[in-house]
Amino acid sequence: MKNILVRYGELTLKGNNREYFITKLIQNIKFKLKKYKEFVEYKKDYNSLTITVNETKINEIIDVLTTTFGIYSISIVDIVKKDEDLILQKTLEIAKSLKEYTFKVEVERKDKNFPIGSSDLKIKIASNILKNTNNLKVDVKKPENKITVIIKIDGAYIFTSKIVASKGLPVGVGGKAISLLSGGIDSPVASYLTLKRGMQVDFLHFMTPPHTSKEALNKVFSLALALEKYNQTHFSLYVCDFSLILQELMHIKEESYRITIMRRIFVKIANKLAQLINAKAIITGDNLGQVASQTIESLNVINKTSDLTIIRPLITYDKEEIIDIAKKIDTYKISILPFDDVCSLYVPKNPITKPKLFIAEGQEKNLLIDELLDYALNNCIKQYVCKDGELVEKNQEQKNQEQKPE
Ligand code: ATP
Ligand code: MG
Repeated sequence: MKNILVRYGELTLKGNNREYFITKLIQNIKFKLKKYKEFVEYKKDYNSLTITVNETKINEIIDVLTTTFGIYSISIVDIVKKDEDLILQKTLEIAKSLKEYTFKVEVERKDKNFPIGSSDLKIKIASNILKNTNNLKVDVKKPENKITVIIKIDGAYIFTSKIVASKGLPVGVGGKAISLLSGGIDSPVASYLTLKRGMQVDFLHFMTPPHTSKEALNKVFSLALALEKYNQTHFSLYVCDFSLILQELMHIKEESYRITIMRRIFVKIANKLAQLINAKAIITGDNLGQVASQTIESLNVINKTSDLTIIRPLITYDKEEIIDIAKKIDTYKISILPFDDVCSLYVPKNPITKPKLFIAEGQEKNLLIDELLDYALNNCIKQYVCKDGELVEKNQEQKNQEQKPE
């Protein structure tokens, strides 16, 4: 068995919320490690969590932990009884296995009842190592190795390295958001960054079959699934068939306003869906100035239609920075597959870059917009849920459940 010490990072700063954040983080870790249930045990204390895992699964479990938001870093630790001889013996054993030549010892005495002070213990450990090895030297400024000993209530924790994890806040502490997920590069990255700040994410995608293909939809499924490991809970993907609304939008007289109005309708539908599923925010992959619908004037006109905050994590990012993250989280290779977008078939020749709210609202008045939205919400949205790594339509899944013999 191996022990992994999990550090909570930013959580330690959170005053009254602390206990809630830690409980949520541990719940998320357990959810993600569900399939390793019989291989892991958990032990929690004030600043950290120790997970004891079967050695055969350690690499997979480290992968899971380093993609769990709310974890700052992890270390593989040896835990020995708080006995001076045992500590000296273990630290020497570790020192002998080191490949580089300089080292430094660090001691943290969390258990104030431990009889040896941290400076004294540090000196004892370092001298013991120097006495019993010939190739190691102490270097306190730039050591190649650091041997750290933490004296806790339940034992002495000893380790030589830290693996940096994803940081951020535990998913779910900030409630739920709906991410407008296209098949492009930006919206999966925007979803990831919002997950990082502790919001759970459900997705909403608009398609217009037969103009948008089955492959385009599959691509969106793949993107939502690629983000599952960061979502840390059950999530839903809502797919809205936008064909009927698009036909209505073709009647907009001010052709240059079509994209602005389409975006406003995306946001209106997201707001209505949010009420039904108790979501508190909307996420988009908008980026300032990339295209006509993303000038600050356009974004202002789009914002006016939303009761909820629209989170736009990428608003100030350069494309290259976005692509770097997309590569890191493995969505890039999916996003660059060819796909047909709702707007591509209906982009006006000259989309307006500085739309006026009163003109957009005026155009919408002619569209019976409220009726259209209600219709879309009741008839055009399918919910898909993740089951064993696949997305299945919610109703279909319920039907399957009902058909199962007792
Ligand atoms: P992306 O790479 O995310 O598609 P983009 O830079 O191509 O972004 P747009 O296509 O103008 O920009 O879209 C801006 C945002 O609007 C997207 O990031 C996404 O959040 C949302 N969006 C666009 N098309 C759709 C769609 N078909 N379904 C759901 N949301 C969409
Ligand atoms: Mg796009």
